[in-house]
This record gives sequence, C-alpha cells and structure tokens, in this order.
Amino acid sequence: MELYQKTAHELQQLIAAKEVKAVEVAESVLERARQAEPKIHAFVTLAEEEAYQAARRVDEAVSKGVKLPPLAGIPVAIKDNISTAGLRTTCASKILENYIPPYDATVIAEIRNQMMVLVGKTNMDEFAMGSSTENSGLFTTRNPWDIEAVPGGSSGGSAAAVCADETILALGSDTGGSIRQPAGYCGIVGLKPTYGRVSRYGLVAYASSLDQIGPLTKDVTDCALLLQAIAKYDPKDSTSVNQPAPDYLQEMKKGAKGLRIGLAKEYLGEGISLPVKDAVQNGVKVFKDLGAEIVEVSLPHTEYALAAYYIIAPAEASSNLARYDGVRYGHRTSQKVSDAVELFMKTRQEGFGAEVKRRIMTGTYVLSSGYYDAYYLKAQKVRTLIRNDFDNAFKSCDLILTPTTPSVAFKIGSKTKDPLEMYLEDIFTVTCNLAGLPGISISGGFDNGMPIGLQMLGPLFKEEILLRAAYGFEQATDFHKKRPEI
Ligand code: GLN
Repeated sequence: MELYQKTAHELQQLIAAKEVKAVEVAESVLERARQAEPKIHAFVTLAEEEAYQAARRVDEAVSKGVKLPPLAGIPVAIKDNISTAGLRTTCASKILENYIPPYDATVIAEIRNQMMVLVGKTNMDEFAMGSSTENSGLFTTRNPWDIEAVPGGSSGGSAAAVCADETILALGSDTGGSIRQPAGYCGIVGLKPTYGRVSRYGLVAYASSLDQIGPLTKDVTDCALLLQAIAKYDPKDSTSVNQPAPDYLQEMKKGAKGLRIGLAKEYLGEGISLPVKDAVQNGVKVFKDLGAEIVEVSLPHTEYALAAYYIIAPAEASSNLARYDGVRYGHRTSQKVSDAVELFMKTRQEGFGAEVKRRIMTGTYVLSSGYYDAYYLKAQKVRTLIRNDFDNAFKSCDLILTPTTPSVAFKIGSKTKDPLEMYLEDIFTVTCNLAGLPGISISGGFDNGMPIGLQMLGPLFKEEILLRAAYGFEQATDFHKKRPEI
C-alpha cells in the first residue's frame, strides 16, 4: 500500500513512530496528484514548494523530540474560497482569478499552527454556487469513479481530490449541501458542522447565514480528527459560538448502540432512485443490528425548503457580491469607460459567470421593495417553520437518516440546460443549512459502480452524535474502503 492511500490516523501513527517522514508523505501525495490531475482536474493551484517546507518543519520537530499536534505532517487540500495568505484564492471565478489574499482564514491559521501540510487549493462552482463544479469559471472537475460524471459541488475539487488520493484530508464549505453532496457522489465522508461551530473568518462569503466550513475525508475517524482541529470559538467571526467542542474521537467510539434514529417520510418519497432507497433500507438494517432504535418522525414543511433556500441564498449573495466592483478586488475591465458606474458594469459583466449573474439578479429581485414581503420575508418564515419541524422531531430521536441525494452522480452536461434541474439536486441537503444543524454524508452503497451517499442530520452542536452513528455504520460495512481505479 502506498502512503497516499492511507488515512490521516494511519499516517499520524507512522510519523509519530518515526517510521515515515512527513516529507515522504508529501512526496507520495504530490506525486499521486501530478499523475491523477490530467484526468481529474481537482486542483486550481498545487502548492508544492510550500507543502515541502511545512513537511520539513514537521520532520525537524520530530527529530528534536517535540510533541506534535495530532495532525502534524498530514496533507490537506483547501477549497479555493478559503483565504490563504500569499496563495491565490480564486473562488473559481474570473473576477478573482489573480487575487492573492493578504491574510489567512482562521481555519488556515489553525492548519498551519497545527503543522498540517497544505498541498493546494481545489476547484469549485464559482463562488460556491452550484452542485457539480460545472459552474466553475476555470474548468470542470471529474468524478474519479467515472470521469464522464460530475464529482458534485460546489466543493467538487476537494471531494475528488480526497477520493482520488490526491490529498489525505480536505476542507470544503457548505451553504446548501456543498460538502455533503460531493462527498456522497465521491463515496467519502463530508461533514457540515453546526452554524457557528467553525469560524467563517476568511471564508469568502456566499450566503452568510448559511455558510459553514467543514471536513471531507476518507473515513469517519479522520473526519472527527479534522473537525476537532477547526471547531473553535473565534472572536473574529461574530456568529462563532463560544461552546467548547467535546473530544470527538472519544465520543465517536461509543458507536451507534442505543441511538434513536429517525426516518422521515418527507425524505423517502417520490423522485428517489431505487438503488438509493435500497441503500437507506440497508442502512436501517445495519443500524438495527448495531442496537439502534428506529423511529418515525415527520418534517412537514420540507416541501418548501428548496424554494426558501433559493430565495434566501441568492438574496444574501446579491449583497455579498456587491464588493466585486473592479476597484477593491480582483479583475477590472480594460475597456474604455466614461464613469464609475460603467466601470462597475463592464467589470462585473466580464468577471462573473452566468449562474452567479442569475443569483445576483434573483437576489436583487426578491429583496426589492414590492417583492420583499412576497418572497424574502415569506422565505424567512418558512425557515423558522423548518427549524421548528426539526426541534419537534428531535424530541423523539437523536438523529435523522436520509439519502444525501435522490440518485448517484450524473453525467457532465446532463443538467446544465435547465437551472431548476440543478437546483433540485439539493432537495435533501438545504434543510440542514436553513435550520443551522450539523449534517454528515457517508458512503452507503453503490449503484452501477457509482457511490451512494447516506446523510444524517443531528441537533444543534451535536456533531458527536453524527460521528457515533457514522462510525458504527463504517465499522459494520466496507463501502468506505472501496477506491476507484484511476
Ligand atoms: N447547490 C447549492 C447552491 O448552488 C449549494 C451550494 C453550497 O452549498 N455552496 O447554492
């Protein structure tokens, strides 16, 4: 077995025992990335020099007998909407194609302090708007299980890189499913933490009341380790919550026994492919065998979630993206302009892709006077109802099991004609963001060689419950061990 095929918790032991050098791990992973990239296209930027430097620092510390942080020397890839000082951060947009942030996001500062090895920045849908990476302004990433299929999105580059062993760990961001959906499509683990659990400082804002950074990993243990590393209160993010994180690894090992797992009919109805339904049924059986209890719950307002999401997210985006005006950040038009307004218009026309423009226009429309009450205000009310649904459901269960998506990864180009079809991809993932809850996707089976994601949603700040259930499931199955041939 090559080093790049190992998990973080396996490599951690080898590095600490001095059996393997961090530089050897970096070399193995970067060499693998170089081989796989012409097919997969997961990375916008590979940071080889920087990675070797970080790895050498780890090896020096090991040789001096310094006690290392748990993930020291482990390669990690970062979605390209998380600011990295001195390293290009494009959001996969032409408007930020050459933007180099002057500061680190809080999660990046943590990664550097904890001596992880940042290997590069990964592709995504432009400004995280999309479900396939086809909205990237740079290029489309491929699904390592089938390079004709999408890897999911918007954190598709991070998911594909983990899946293809081009990194050991990755970070993504999730506004309406962008960690869980690509994790599901690539057969890996992806966790969206509770809103406020992980600092958003330095995450380029898409929809600020929904965005959250989280891990994409090869297994649940790695997910617990990476979450532990980033789940910290940050005074620089006014929505960060000051509530100490538990020991996730220790909690995780309690497993699924005794947990009450909710099944909601609203998540198991029409439109779900048969193999996905079967995977959920199999999941139920696995959990019963593990000593979990299955209970029925109802989330009656689910059918309005997608509409509410596609009002609230664009509304916030239209405001957040107003800052890209050719004056303060990134691209500026080189066309002749006669005044400032024309400068803004030409710059934005050239810099933003079609989907981003669509969201800005939708968002501006739903916020405009005359339509505000009919759309934005109503969507906010629906949001409250959805949150209440979950509060009620969690009175009788500890977590809720659903599919991550209605079917497996679709072919590139098959849903780009109709934006609505793409939006429907997010039907099971957006509720979690609207309610602020934590959610995880794990590999729960295969349909014709393509991975099926199982999603679990938990109460606020109860990531450990999701990790317990996911770990129990993983111990009892071997879906997570399967890797595609590249
Ligand atoms: N697909 C959803 C959207 O386009 C979710 C994206 C995300 O979570 N960043 O908005």
